[in-house]
Amino acid sequence: MMTPSDTIHIIGAGLAGSEAAWQAAEAGCRVVLHEMRPARMTEAHRTDGLAELVCSNSFRSDDAANNAVGLLHAEMRRLGSLIMRAADANQVPAGGALAVDREGFSAAVTRALAGHPAIEIRRSEIADLPPADWSNVVVATGPLTSAPLADAIRKLTDEDALAFFDAIAPIVHRDSIDMSVAWFQSRYDKAGPGGTGADYINCPMSKAQYDAFVDALSSGEKTEFKDWESSTPYFDGCLPIEVMAERGRETLRHGPMKPVGLTNPHDPATKPHAIVQLRQDNKLGTLYNMVGFQTKLKYGAQQQIFRSIPGLERAEFARFGGLHRNTFLNSPRLLDAQLRLRSAPRLRFAGQMTGCEGYVESASIGLIAGLFAAANTRGDELLPPPPTTALGSLLGHITGGHVETIEPGTRSFQPMNINFGLFPPLANPPTKNPDGARLRGNEKTVAKKRAISARALADLDRWISDHLRVPAAA
Ligand SMILES: Cc1cc2nc3c(=O)[nH]c(=O)nc-3n(C[C@H](O)[C@H](O)[C@H](O)COP(=O)(O)OP(=O)(O)OC[C@H]3O[C@@H](n4cnc5c(N)ncnc54)[C@H](O)[C@@H]3O)c2cc1C
Repeated sequence: MMTPSDTIHIIGAGLAGSEAAWQAAEAGCRVVLHEMRPARMTEAHRTDGLAELVCSNSFRSDDAANNAVGLLHAEMRRLGSLIMRAADANQVPAGGALAVDREGFSAAVTRALAGHPAIEIRRSEIADLPPADWSNVVVATGPLTSAPLADAIRKLTDEDALAFFDAIAPIVHRDSIDMSVAWFQSRYDKAGPGGTGADYINCPMSKAQYDAFVDALSSGEKTEFKDWESSTPYFDGCLPIEVMAERGRETLRHGPMKPVGLTNPHDPATKPHAIVQLRQDNKLGTLYNMVGFQTKLKYGAQQQIFRSIPGLERAEFARFGGLHRNTFLNSPRLLDAQLRLRSAPRLRFAGQMTGCEGYVESASIGLIAGLFAAANTRGDELLPPPPTTALGSLLGHITGGHVETIEPGTRSFQPMNINFGLFPPLANPPTKNPDGARLRGNEKTVAKKRAISARALADLDRWISDHLRVPAAA
């Protein structure tokens, strides 16, 4: 019989906390899920929905054979992930990516958790360290953890929680885009899950227009830094567009505005100097987000500068871009291999706070934290997934794979997206095609990625059958 001490308390019902709650409840545990919204909001969340996506609506590539995040999707599906189930059920066309209708996605997660008989959702902020009688806690309060809890954790860990910036890209109403200038096409006409090969709206720019645009970004009025923000570094994967512009005149043309793999049907003979892409943001197809256009420009400057983009002269913005802080632990030093705080093992951490980056990665660390917590209620310890799997390799980065290399006193651990660089090398990398022909150049890289992916899925299946209870219905 369950006692109150068997209850798992999960703080934060974002991507990680929602998945952790689902996994623990499905493993037979009683779960209380604490979420502070809507009574207290963060700087980025807008709704009271669980697992709200605060910026892009993309879960990135869904290609399990060739892409590390696609592989992580596949592993999570095999582990019965609620986040992946809700994403699959709410996908919108997005070329080679898995993108979702954000409201439908969040509603599906909320419904599933609220309807689970073993889960109780409490809408209140945890504003200090959890009460002493909560013996099995998962803290998944994310990059925008409320200040009182962040302070309490900082004191407990005796560390300065390092902060950096994440920036939000603007969202435009589809019917305000001039399609006599812009056109639908995915880069290289690639059709991904639920896509058609023509899922992005593209806006072409001449050299003169691009140069004027880069100048305007650099001189446009920005949001002022607050004191605590002024010494905070940017995370390179999410640089504001004006910061990219300041790094060099060509930076944007090699980044979000690259003109390759696209042909303007209105003027096929002229190759645009740069191209702005917008991706569908909701199921209805009425909203499109400006891909890679995270920004800290003031709203007035955003409207003025972004309307200089051909096709967006009369753009109406459903949401302007913004800029926010992030918070994460020095996990390799502070957490054990089960994601527990070494100095207070009743507290386990999950999601972006542990030093992963991205919706999918955060949810995956929630998934494994939920399984670890569930095993503890049974008096067991679950062996982590093998480091050859995407989940195991990401966990390894967080709990020990990272090496402190910079001078003493400086913290070098940084949040990371899943990538093939985190996986152990293959013992025998492929050198030949199945038909015996020698692999050359890029063929070798492709074959290596495929072999790493195949090894990961085989090793995950073995780990599942060796260590996880098979659900009664299976
Ligand atoms: C502005 C911004 C933009 C981002 N854009 C992207 C993007 O485009 N793509 C991408 O892949 N990743 C993005 N990220 C990174 C990140 O992966 C996501 O933030 C992701 O949601 C993290 O998942 P999480 O579960 O760790 O945190 P969240 O999803 O943020 O969940 C944390 C939850 O905890 C709640 N909470 C906080 N404090 C308390 C408390 N004291 N008591 C109770 N509840 C609390 C919050 O309300 C929230 O619901 C972005 C991050 C930020 C901040």
